Amino acid sequence: MKHNNIDDDLEIENEVYDDDEENSFAAPECPICESQQECEHVVATFAVTEGTVHGPLRNHVRGMEERMEGFILDLETLPRPYNYDGEYEELRKNVILSMKGGDSLSDAFEDQGHSVFKVFRSILECTKDVSSQEYEIDESSGTWGYIRYFASDPHQVITDVNQYLLAAAEEAKSS
Ligand SMILES: [Zn+2]
Repeated sequence: MKHNNIDDDLEIENEVYDDDEENSFAAPECPICESQQECEHVVATFAVTEGTVHGPLRNHVRGMEERMEGFILDLETLPRPYNYDGEYEELRKNVILSMKGGDSLSDAFEDQGHSVFKVFRSILECTKDVSSQEYEIDESSGTWGYIRYFASDPHQVITDVNQYLLAAAEEAKSS
């Protein structure tokens, strides 16, 4: 089992589970329906070690990145209710630093992929009705960390997050 086909989504952990029941891997249980499979309550699974995202949020990530790229130079902190966000400030600092080194905004932003996902995760963690479970998979190549987000209505959560980022972009424009 290799991690080359990360794009193949969540097959990975299920296969690992089937292959090796002695493994310390424990599938995260959905807090809503108690399923250990990827149920309809999954908003996203972030493969933290690899820096990838899977699940329904995945198709929205590029748009979310573009929105944040649009306001990161203008907003020092994320607007409420997420404005305590140290991850965002860290990301902003690094983007500005690499732009001072001559990078374009989009290159600077792209280089910070891990930090961008941290910000998305903290936005999800602040979103109403969202809960999360961290888990790990031990493999010969090392320990792989994951975090899965659940909600009773994942599509509503994604809509809320998108609207939040749009509102932040509007705020940046008017400031
Ligand atoms: Zn469920």
